[in-house]
Amino acid sequence: MFKYYMPTNIFFGKDCLKNNLVSNIDVNDKPLIVTGKRSAIISGAQSDILEILKSKKIKYEIFNKVTENPKLKTVHEGAKYFLKNNCNMVIGIGGGSPIDSAKAISIIAANKLENREIYNSQKIKNGYPIIAIPTTSGTGTEATQYSVITDTNNDKKAGFGTPLMFPKFSFVDPKYTLSLSKKITRDTAVDALSHLLEGLYSNKRSEIVYPMIFSGVKIIFENLKNTMNNLEDFKLREKLMLASLWGGIVIAQTGSTMQHAIGYPLTTKYGISHGLANGIVMKTVMEKYYPAVKKDLNELFDFLNIKKSDFYDWLISLDLIIGKKLDTEFIENNIENVLNIHNMENNPVKINANDIRNIYNTIN
Ligand code: NAP
Ligand code: ZN
Repeated sequence: MFKYYMPTNIFFGKDCLKNNLVSNIDVNDKPLIVTGKRSAIISGAQSDILEILKSKKIKYEIFNKVTENPKLKTVHEGAKYFLKNNCNMVIGIGGGSPIDSAKAISIIAANKLENREIYNSQKIKNGYPIIAIPTTSGTGTEATQYSVITDTNNDKKAGFGTPLMFPKFSFVDPKYTLSLSKKITRDTAVDALSHLLEGLYSNKRSEIVYPMIFSGVKIIFENLKNTMNNLEDFKLREKLMLASLWGGIVIAQTGSTMQHAIGYPLTTKYGISHGLANGIVMKTVMEKYYPAVKKDLNELFDFLNIKKSDFYDWLISLDLIIGKKLDTEFIENNIENVLNIHNMENNPVKINANDIRNIYNTIN
């Protein structure tokens, strides 16, 4: 039995926003554009949007206070601004942080949520329409029902999900990623790789998305290093963007696993980027899961025409390191936290406190 749900209208390719937003937005819409400080501007996405809105005389507001690993208090501030200005849709432009914030703002505003209520699914009944315009190729949030927000009360990153957060439209134009640095290119591609692999690991895995997983991993394996050395090559950017989109479509069906759960505290405590936090444990997690998903992983390596050890060598060559061991206090304080993250329900093998401790101890 297969199950597949993907309600987002996805437009992919050069100038897809410029050519298609115009017929999908009208004068009754009043969007709140949600962005970070720079990415929407330097990617060129914001000026493309504003040109269309102005040409159609559509009123809009801009909320550009989103930082990396967006905070609960920021999305509440955004929702207040949305309501005060009588907006009726959100447009998230940026990496995962602004798009996840746009999703959260839509839900907080539509349900008049307070404090930590976004984490309480019973409270979520409505959502305003969401348009997503990614400027990184990593999170795939343009095709998921998830948003990851840092809970300012306890400084924990926590995802929440509702079908209401599938964007109504996603405009995925690889040209918006041409301005990414080498490090962000690597880290975000490794995030996309994590999503694709987790689609194979998850105990909600479904063969309906296997062609995307296999082709997506192949794209990243064969093109990431080349892209890191040719940051402004549109064809290479297009490949990575497609792999990232596939990663999003995959986890929308399968959820993610310990691979993600174990990285969240590394990001909140040490400021390690989301993609790198996944990458530094990728080999250890794969080894832990391997007995349970051996057949599928071996099929993947056959498809790539490599051995598992070649994949590990490639991972090492990406320099996914943080340059220090984690302190014991951090590890011990976070074991319980990781075990309680809901992604852990999707692990293909039983994971206990000692497994988490051992994985954290491999990091350097
Ligand atoms: P990000 O946090 O959105 O952005 C990282 C950095 O890249 C920021 O400094 C940003 O600048 C900059 N940037 C973005 N686009 C750029 C461009 N085109 N050119 C130059 N700089 C650019 O990074 P991300 O990796 O895309 O998103 C990570 C977040 O997404 C995490 O919070 C993660 O947990 C979440 N996530 C969500 C899902 C989901 O399904 N919802 C899945 C995976 C991950 P600005 O500050 O100016 O924006
Ligand atoms: Zn991720």
